[in-house]
Amino acid sequence: MDPAGVSLAEHVRAEAARLAAACTACGECVRACPMTPYAAGVDAAAPGVVAAGMVDVLRGGTGSPAALAWIAACTKSGICTPACPERLDAAFMLRLAGLRAKGALGDAPLVPVREDTQFSPKVKAFARLTLTAEEQARWL
Ligand code: SF4
Repeated sequence: MDPAGVSLAEHVRAEAARLAAACTACGECVRACPMTPYAAGVDAAAPGVVAAGMVDVLRGGTGSPAALAWIAACTKSGICTPACPERLDAAFMLRLAGLRAKGALGDAPLVPVREDTQFSPKVKAFARLTLTAEEQARWL
């Protein structure tokens, strides 16, 4: 919870809704994306329909198989953003849609989520390289 009383999840929801409302689903971001050949069903679908699915996910909907494949294939190149005629940060929209699709806001995930069972041990291993013995005893 930040000092304004807004949680991170609430902020993400509000930002996703704001961007979804501003998007016209023109599909220019999909046309510009270099990853569409690697996302099942995207090249076969109309770009505007794929974009509309992404917007639906931003609003908390289930999107479409092609939209979810596009969201999951995003490598964060950012090439989509300058393609947007509405001057929206399309890459950021994809990131927010990815958060929603992976269930990061508490909803059921719409895409497979990879679990890294070694995440915590890895963080601790790197932390031991920089923390003092006293800090390690306190925080690890
Ligand atoms: S290019 Fe911009 S307005 Fe068009 S679908 Fe993508 S984000 Fe929406």
